[in-house]
Amino acid sequence: MMRRPPPNRQNRSRSKIAKLSLGQADQKEVYRGSSKQDLLDLTREEMVGHLGASLDLAPFRARQLIAWLYRRCVTDFSQMTDIAKTVRDELAARCIISRPQCRTVLIAQDGTRKYLFQLADGNCIESVLIHQPSRWTLCVSSQVGCAIGCSFCRTAKMGFKRNLLAAEIVGQVLAVKEDIARLSAHETPPAAVEDFSNIVFMGMGEPLHNLDNVIRAVCILNDNLGLNYSARKITVSTSGLVPAIKKFGASRAGANLAISLNATTDAVRSVLMPINKKYPIAELIGALREYPLKRGRRITIEYVMISGLNDTLADLARLPKLLRGIPVKINLIPYNASPEESYAPPPPAHVAFWQQSLLDAGMNSTIRWSKGLDINAACGQLATAFKDKQAV
Ligand code: SAH
Ligand code: SF4
Repeated sequence: MMRRPPPNRQNRSRSKIAKLSLGQADQKEVYRGSSKQDLLDLTREEMVGHLGASLDLAPFRARQLIAWLYRRCVTDFSQMTDIAKTVRDELAARCIISRPQCRTVLIAQDGTRKYLFQLADGNCIESVLIHQPSRWTLCVSSQVGCAIGCSFCRTAKMGFKRNLLAAEIVGQVLAVKEDIARLSAHETPPAAVEDFSNIVFMGMGEPLHNLDNVIRAVCILNDNLGLNYSARKITVSTSGLVPAIKKFGASRAGANLAISLNATTDAVRSVLMPINKKYPIAELIGALREYPLKRGRRITIEYVMISGLNDTLADLARLPKLLRGIPVKINLIPYNASPEESYAPPPPAHVAFWQQSLLDAGMNSTIRWSKGLDINAACGQLATAFKDKQAV
């Protein structure tokens, strides 16, 4: 007689099958907490196709919808007053317009605002509205956590949870815009905050690990009927995934590229960024030399300076040699300390000395002094703190 497996083993294998058969479409449903189509996930062309195919609506409806979604930031179909009620009801039955829930906003003395957003599946991400002398920039997340595991980065400590959907990237932009509009309209005196002209993918996650959704989000942010951010004003930062850099360069995104170089030798870079073992410096720089840069653009080279590790005089001599001939601007970033790390930032005078030496060597170089130090502004710090609090 055949013996049945004990019931708990049976359950375990069934749940494994359920997990394996959870296809990409189902996974999206889990992330967004609904089986309906999130309109923020669609490019203009897809919106036209979707409305035509599933709702039998004319293409001009897509133009109307885009204005409601991105110009007037509406989340409720009933507010779309120039669309017939029957159409609005149909849209509401089949579609959603998502928003991440704002759980916390921390405000630094320099006006920088750090948002903790909760997604429909409960995961948390961060966005930072950064106050710079001449403009405001929004830094968005592209993943929950990150798989790259850089030794100096707080997000790495979370491990990798999942990719963000394009709607969840675009949703950060819309939610922060709404906050700014609310602050300007209702605070007396109005809060010292302005709309942002630039968007950088430098929050949590490795954007090029989530290439398709990041390209899709850039296209949506870029749409001139909607938010209309020129691709020149959008920068995507990567730890150096060489094949994805090539795909990104060949894609329709057209956004600026930033590379987190952070070292001048493979020995040091591999300690800081394990991805370097797969794509070492020579291969990465080779990809930058071949990158199809648009006229007048430069690749941003980010260099997180950590005292005694990657900020020696030998590094300073090697850096311009490595990058010679590539149109770059080097952004020096003093390491933003976190209590668990033994790393320390160099003294400000040493960072200034590096900048001057790079300028003297004919390299375009800036310093990104940490914004909002008083609000834990380093990427990943707020989300991990929130998670720790929930776990208590
Ligand atoms: N994953 C992408 C984008 C997110 S990280 C990337 O690595 O490029 C954005 C930037 O923050 C990167 O340049 C990274 O080197 C930097 N960074 C991460 N942790 C930091 C810290 N503790 N102090 C200063 N910069 C940090
Ligand atoms: Fe990921 Fe970038 Fe942090 Fe490295 S620095 S762990 S790639 S988010």
